[in-house]
Amino acid sequence: MDLKVIGCHGGETPKHRTSAFVLDDRLAIDAGSLTSGMELRAQCALEACLVSHAHLDHIRDLATIADNRAQNGCKPLVVAGTKVTIAILKKHFFNGLLWPDFTKIPSAAHPTIEYLVLKPEEATEIAGYKVRSILVSHTIECGAFIIEGKGGAIAYSGDTGPTDRLWEVLNETPKLKAMLMEVSFPNEEHRLAHVSGHHTPETLAKDLKKLGAGLAKDLPTLLYHIKPSFQAKVERECARLRGVNLTVCALGDHFIL
Ligand SMILES: [Zn+2]
Ligand SMILES: [Zn+2]
Repeated sequence: MDLKVIGCHGGETPKHRTSAFVLDDRLAIDAGSLTSGMELRAQCALEACLVSHAHLDHIRDLATIADNRAQNGCKPLVVAGTKVTIAILKKHFFNGLLWPDFTKIPSAAHPTIEYLVLKPEEATEIAGYKVRSILVSHTIECGAFIIEGKGGAIAYSGDTGPTDRLWEVLNETPKLKAMLMEVSFPNEEHRLAHVSGHHTPETLAKDLKKLGAGLAKDLPTLLYHIKPSFQAKVERECARLRGVNLTVCALGDHFIL
């Protein structure tokens, strides 16, 4: 599997982009920077986008990628998420007010985007992968994804604080190659992390212990969603953790898994 990091931060500056990743050039995972971080041709090559939850930093570039794809006659982009997430996108985002309803543009018969509702824990075929959504613990409904391809699986957690079910499922997932995991705030901001449903290095380290014996030490854990204001501090705190295999994602990273 070929994983490109398009955006990996919990905020934006000219040096930081919000969450978006692309698998094998055809499956996007969250849409925080799909247009600010990708050329038109790559935008058009995408077949589907998994949306972890409806917070703006994970969906905002769905607006601009829909616009770009409509002008270039690209195939419909499948936008997949849980029922709650898709309902928010329809009602509050592509609602004909904040942004046009691209399920009817250029026409209902040839739409720019198509919604796909994912039932938690049920496998769905998307862009040639078997995808399962597992609910995690955030301020609104938010999912993780287990994405299984021919050679193995990767996991992606959307925004979350301490959670349980995801780790249970990961313990039972064969051929798990890597996990993309959020960490947002430094340890001293634990109150803010708690009320906003995010991890600090300390809470993440505790959660990683829920992985079965040896798995946390070996499983490549790719960290994203650090808030730009706290980048250096969170990186230092993560570097001090032991018994884990952590890499902090950077813009432009390209992993072959
Ligand atoms: Zn969020
Ligand atoms: Zn976020």
